[in-house]
Amino acid sequence: MTDMEIEIEPGSHSETVIRCAWLVNPGKAPRKNIRVTIVNGTVAELCEAPADELSQIADVAIMPSFVNVHTHLEFSRLPAPLAPSTPFSDWIRSVIQYRSAGPDGEQFMTDGIRSGLHESRNAGVRLIGEISTTEHGVSTLQQAIEEARISGVSFRELIGFSADHVSGQLNAAGKHLETTPAIYTIADEHQLVRGLSPHAPYSVHPELFEGLVDIARRTTVPVAMHLAETVDEVELLLNQTGRFVDFLQSLNLWDPQILAPGTAPLRYLEKLAQLERALAVHGNYFGPAEIEFLSRHPHVAVVYCPRTHAYFGHTPHPWQQLQSAGAVVLLGTDSRASNPDLSVWKELQFVASRKNVAPVWELLPMITTSAAAALGFDEEDFVVKVGNRFHAVSLPCKCDSASRLNATLIRAADVTDVSL
Ligand SMILES: [Zn+2]
Repeated sequence: MTDMEIEIEPGSHSETVIRCAWLVNPGKAPRKNIRVTIVNGTVAELCEAPADELSQIADVAIMPSFVNVHTHLEFSRLPAPLAPSTPFSDWIRSVIQYRSAGPDGEQFMTDGIRSGLHESRNAGVRLIGEISTTEHGVSTLQQAIEEARISGVSFRELIGFSADHVSGQLNAAGKHLETTPAIYTIADEHQLVRGLSPHAPYSVHPELFEGLVDIARRTTVPVAMHLAETVDEVELLLNQTGRFVDFLQSLNLWDPQILAPGTAPLRYLEKLAQLERALAVHGNYFGPAEIEFLSRHPHVAVVYCPRTHAYFGHTPHPWQQLQSAGAVVLLGTDSRASNPDLSVWKELQFVASRKNVAPVWELLPMITTSAAAALGFDEEDFVVKVGNRFHAVSLPCKCDSASRLNATLIRAADVTDVSL
């Protein structure tokens, strides 16, 4: 069968049969010529297609739905990333300008979040880690995830580098968590969980950071923080010099007493490790000390955003060293302010297309099972298997040979959501 479409045979009692050339599950060897029988939305049988059905096999690969652990949906209506990409502090100025130039603040944000969630859903994402900057953004997200039938974590972003912002931002954090249960176990579909996001070391006073971690520890909510993203950030922490000092001075926020000389990203990781789970977003400039620490604290997952990383022209990301050491590394898109789209699958293709990288199925946990677990969700929900809801994506895959499968998947067009 040369048709790229899956042939779906509707039967009685909502039975659907899909015959695919390949079934690709995270961390498992791909299976060829597979018949999946779905009854009332749940996978009832999964087996090799019998010989007399081989002519009905569609030239597609089926994979479980994806998790995008890190994005900022409010920028989703940007047609292209914001410029300039360097220096980073100038890019941040563009972000601030974009936010303040919106024609109608709240509507602007609502449209971005809705459009980004829609785009994510079409790109096969069923669970999203979103950085929310206002309570209005949180309620928009809540409504949108119910409509899109996906789940999410709303990490409320807190920003305040000067001491006089600490108490106001701690209050905002507390307000955000008011509706979050003290203990959450996540199994229900289409659920929004609340978390916190101290923005970054250059925008969050150390007391605010510590206060937020304390709140998160008491309420057992997840935390995401941008960390070790640029050389300038590391220089600011270590020496209190460099471009970030100029940037903070220009905003009248610089106080040389705020950061202790010799501070390393490790200090932030040590605090994050006190939590049940946390995301250290980017980690582009994690050194041996951070890698060693993360190898012993896999509940602090590193989020590598490959195309955003490339956009800013950073030195090679240490994700493979981190993984070899035993640390957990996930993939995220970041936002359309630094990335061309919100397809986490394209992030994986981008990484998989490099030399000396594991095949797609071994990288897949970074956008499925491991990613779900890092957000506190059940990783087994992100596997196509008997007993699970059929939440899956399909992509064109005309390939007879297992030895060529990886190259075919890397070159394949974007995915289509085929969940039932
Ligand atoms: Zn980000």
